Amino acid sequence: MSDVASANVVIIGAGGIGAPAAMALVAGGARRLIVVDDDTVEISNLHRQILFTEADVGRSKLDAFAAAVEARAPGVVVTRVPGRALPLTVATIVADAAVVIDATDNFASRFLLADACAFAKVPVVHAAAVRWQATVMAVPAGGRPCYRCLFEDVPRGDAPDCATAGVVGPVCGVAGALAADRVLRLLAGDASTYGHIVTYDGWRDTLRSVPVPARPGCALCGAAPTIHGILASRYLAPACGL
Ligand SMILES: [Zn+2]
Repeated sequence: MSDVASANVVIIGAGGIGAPAAMALVAGGARRLIVVDDDTVEISNLHRQILFTEADVGRSKLDAFAAAVEARAPGVVVTRVPGRALPLTVATIVADAAVVIDATDNFASRFLLADACAFAKVPVVHAAAVRWQATVMAVPAGGRPCYRCLFEDVPRGDAPDCATAGVVGPVCGVAGALAADRVLRLLAGDASTYGHIVTYDGWRDTLRSVPVPARPGCALCGAAPTIHGILASRYLAPACGL
C-alpha cells in the first residue's frame, strides 16, 4: 500500500486512454505522474484525447498533457519522458513506479511492459480500446497472473488495432477511468482487482469482469518460464498511434 499523493504513477501513452486516466487520478489525489510519449497532437485524435484543444494541434503531446493537467490540478507534478518505452529504455522507465498504466496503442508495447513490470516487480494496469470495446487488466507486482497468461504472445496475424479498426472516443474514456479506478484501489491496498479482465462494450451496453487464472505453462510467470529478460526481437510488431 502506498500513499496516493506520494506514489509515482507512470502512464505510458498520453493519448485517448492516458488523458482520462490522468484526469481521474489527479481528482482522486495522485500528485506525481510520469508520462511517456513521443507524438504530437493531431486534430483527428481530439475526439478521444480530451485534455487537448485545437490550439494544441502540432504541439508535443507531452507538453500539452502536462500543461492541461497542471492547470487543472495545481500542485500536481507531471514529469515528461519523451520517447517510447523501448527494450533499451523500459527498465529505467518503470523502475521507480508505484504502479504503471499501459495506455499504449499496440501489442508490442503491451507485451514489453508486461515483461518489464514483472521483472521490476511493479504492478501494471493494461488498458486498451478498439472500436466499441474497452478492456482493462491489473497485474500484481511480480506478475502472476499476468498479461501473457491470457494473450500468450505478440499476435503475428491481422489482430485488430486502433489504426485498422478505429476506436470510439467515449470508449477510450471508459478504459482510462477503469484504469484509474484500479490504480487508486491498488494504492489503497485493495488487491481484489487482480486476476480479472474487465471488458466494457459500448455498443451492447455491457460491463463484464472475467477471471484470468494463472496459467501453469505461462512463458513469463509459469512454473518453467522461458522469458527471463527483455529481448528486443521479441516485441517486433507495428504501431498505430492511439
Ligand atoms: Zn503469466
